[in-house]
Amino acid sequence: MIKKLLMICLLLTSVVIADEKMYLNEDDIKTTHDKFYLHQGGNVWLHTPTLHRDKQGLFTFESELGRVKDGFNVWGYEKTWRCPYCNQHWPMGKSCQNPNCPSKFK
Ligand SMILES: [Zn+2]
Repeated sequence: MIKKLLMICLLLTSVVIADEKMYLNEDDIKTTHDKFYLHQGGNVWLHTPTLHRDKQGLFTFESELGRVKDGFNVWGYEKTWRCPYCNQHWPMGKSCQNPNCPSKFK
């Protein structure tokens, strides 16, 4: 009986830590000096520090995607938008914080 419980625990753990590959379209990737930005459409971006390649193409692991952290709680991927004037990325809902940005909408 205890053995069976252990098995179930192990199975559940392996499901939780399974790392999903997320395949990417190379045209949707923009690089900066420290990150790869992945275009999700509608000027919404995710970021990851690393890319990998296998026979099927470029991918990143979902666990490597930038996460929004609120204390110890991680509650989703951090989405950013790209300022069309200075090409810098900012969290969704936050205006461009670049003091040298040529945008007039600050
Ligand atoms: Zn800007």
